[in-house]
Amino acid sequence: MSKMPVLYVSHGAPTLPLEQSAARDFLTGLGATVARPRAILAVSAHWETDRPAVSTAGQPETIYDFHGFPRELYRLRYPAPGAPQLAARVAELLAAGGMPAQLDPQRGLDHGAWTPLMLMYPQADIPVTQLSIQPQSGPEYHLRLGESLRPLRDEGVLILASGSVTHNLHEIRAPGGRDAQTPSWVTQFNEWLAATVLAGRASDLVAYRSKAPHAVRNHPGDEHLLPLLVAAGAAGTEAKAARLHSSYAYGVIGMDAYRFD
Ligand code: ZN
Repeated sequence: MSKMPVLYVSHGAPTLPLEQSAARDFLTGLGATVARPRAILAVSAHWETDRPAVSTAGQPETIYDFHGFPRELYRLRYPAPGAPQLAARVAELLAAGGMPAQLDPQRGLDHGAWTPLMLMYPQADIPVTQLSIQPQSGPEYHLRLGESLRPLRDEGVLILASGSVTHNLHEIRAPGGRDAQTPSWVTQFNEWLAATVLAGRASDLVAYRSKAPHAVRNHPGDEHLLPLLVAAGAAGTEAKAARLHSSYAYGVIGMDAYRFD
């Protein structure tokens, strides 16, 4: 079995599957570019817990963890089977890394997981489980969390980390809407991030809040960038990173995606 890549994708707004965009087109084609995984471990910005938690649900629910969106969005379902065996393996690896995880038999898939998955693997026939993030523990912790998961890449598991490369919802301005101009404080941060990821500078990535231009304005909280730290950790310093996609939604939400081989 060949080594699986690690992916980080930006999921943007929950309406991602419904609205035409460059990011949606990109994600629609992404699944076919990766060897078919045995199972998928999704690490989404939208499941925050104090300690790592991983879902053992046999049939994960599609969670509508958002409000005020078009009715048709609440009718979408992602009926992929769960991956309780993979969840147990994740817990085993995290325990070995000194980060014991809780097993959660109820947890389904939040929109950070199911909206990209629905585009990448519309047949919903690959087992999937989800691992939570711990925003209070910061970037370096999430890099180590990813390092603990590295053996999964030799076991046919696709680690799909999902956040957004820039993510300040308070800066979304009418009337530009989805096609609003992107300000320079967003592009400067995003290009710093790309250069850092592509060069494999993990220590700069960990220190992004003090090192990157406009970091805090682009990420008032860490949660949408922490999955990238998990991906970088799972990839390792010897990995080759590629920026697969770059676009913006609503001017300020970066939709970039990275692959680590
Ligand atoms: Zn999000």
